[in-house]
Amino acid sequence: ESGLYVVATPIGNLGDITQRALDVLAAADLVAAEDTRTTRGLLARFNIDNTVFAYHDHSDPRAARRIVDCVAGGGVVALVSDAGTPLISDPGYRLVRELQEAGLPVIPVPGACAAVAALCASGLPTDRFLFEGFLPGKAAGRQARLQALAERQETLVFYEAPHRVLDCVGDMRAAFGDAREALLAREVTKAFETLRRAPLAELEAFIAADPNQQRGEIVLVVAGQREKETTIDADTARLLRRLAEELP
Ligand code: SAM
Repeated sequence: ESGLYVVATPIGNLGDITQRALDVLAAADLVAAEDTRTTRGLLARFNIDNTVFAYHDHSDPRAARRIVDCVAGGGVVALVSDAGTPLISDPGYRLVRELQEAGLPVIPVPGACAAVAALCASGLPTDRFLFEGFLPGKAAGRQARLQALAERQETLVFYEAPHRVLDCVGDMRAAFGDAREALLAREVTKAFETLRRAPLAELEAFIAADPNQQRGEIVLVVAGQREKETTIDADTARLLRRLAEELP
C-alpha cells in the first residue's frame, strides 16, 4: 500500500527491530534517512539492499519533493532516523505535514523509543508524563526551563547529552529539590545499560563519582511535584470544630 511509512528502528539492541519494519524497509521504493551511512549499515545487518537518501527537516526542498512525488505516483517511502522513532527529537515533522497537505497517506510503523523505554523502567508514575526532549544546552536556558517545570505534576522525561548530564542533574536538584526522585537511564538495551533511580542529590553524587556515567546515550526521568496536600492550620481547625459543635 502506497504511503510514507514512519519506521522505528532499534535504539541499541538490533533484536528490537520489528518484523513489519524489516518488511517495509525491504519493500520500499525509497528509504529516506537522517544519516545515510548509519541507515545503510543497519540495512546491511539485515541483508536489505535498498536505495537510501538523506532527508532531514532542513534538507533542500527537492528532497521532500522527491518523497511526495514518489508517494503521489503510488510508491512506498520509508522514513527512518538514526535510532528509535522518527520525529521524536528527530526529523520528519515537516515531511509528515507536507504529505498530509498533499492528501497522501502517512502510516506509522511503531517500535523502540528511548523515552518510553526509560519511562517504563523508571518506577515513576506513567499515567501522565511530559516529554521535554533536549533541554537548552546553555546553563541559563536550561535553568529557566527547569524552573518553569518545577510545579508540574506529570513525570518529566528528558534527553541529555553525556557531557552535560552532570551539570543538568545539578540544575535539576536546584530547581526541584534534593529529594525529588529521578532515574538515569543510560545505554538502554546496550551492553552497558544502567538504570539507576535515586533522589536527585544522590543521583548527582553517583554521576559525579563515576566518569563512565557521563558517557553514552542518556534519558533522565524525573518525578513530578507531589500534589500539595491541603493543610488546615490550627486556628482554622479550632474554628471548624466550634462551628461543628453549633450544628444541630
Ligand atoms: N528518536 C529517538 C528515540 O525514539 O528515542 C531519539 C533521538 S535523539 C536525537 C537521541 C537521544 O535519545 C540521545 O541523545 C539520548 O538522549 C536518547 N537515546 C537514544 N538511544 C538511547 C539509548 N539506547 N539509551 C538511552 N538514551 C537513548
